[in-house]
Amino acid sequence: MPLEAFPYKLAWEASIPTNVNFFIWSLLWKRILTIDNLNARGMTLHNVCVLCGSSEENINHLFLSCSASLLVWKRLTEHIPRMGTIMVWDDPKSFLLNWPKLNNRGLAEAVWCILPYAIFWVLWKVCNETIFENGSFELEKVRKRVICTIWEWLDIIGKSVDVKKGQTLAILMLNWKNLVADSW
Ligand SMILES: [Zn+2]
Repeated sequence: MPLEAFPYKLAWEASIPTNVNFFIWSLLWKRILTIDNLNARGMTLHNVCVLCGSSEENINHLFLSCSASLLVWKRLTEHIPRMGTIMVWDDPKSFLLNWPKLNNRGLAEAVWCILPYAIFWVLWKVCNETIFENGSFELEKVRKRVICTIWEWLDIIGKSVDVKKGQTLAILMLNWKNLVADSW
């Protein structure tokens, strides 16, 4: 497959940690080890999504159409009117390709660009913790964790531009909808 046929930039040019670049790459190629993929490799696991407990687990479901995942997307993006049109994409590749640009600069723009990656990453962590460490899905905890994750990742861009200048994690947490919004 020629490179231009696949949006490698989606995985490799995002300002996210290298292990997450690898995770996103596997996600785009649908190679992460969800239950359906494990079963395709010869395991015989009962296929029920660990987040909602009611549907079969596969990549599109787990990250985008699961009722639990949808709550996370909604909680963090519903204040952006254009998100209504983006949530129709149900596979991670189309979803990332169609992720809208925020009409804003500085911190808001930087946060918005890595937000979908942070949500994918945190959902995958929560999913694994639920299976292996007796964790559970709690919307508010997941929301906070996504914002903390983004705050950490901002240091990757911060090496060239200090987008955090004058801001704190607490401000971002409390004023999310005002800070990460379109400015007209
Ligand atoms: Zn589910």
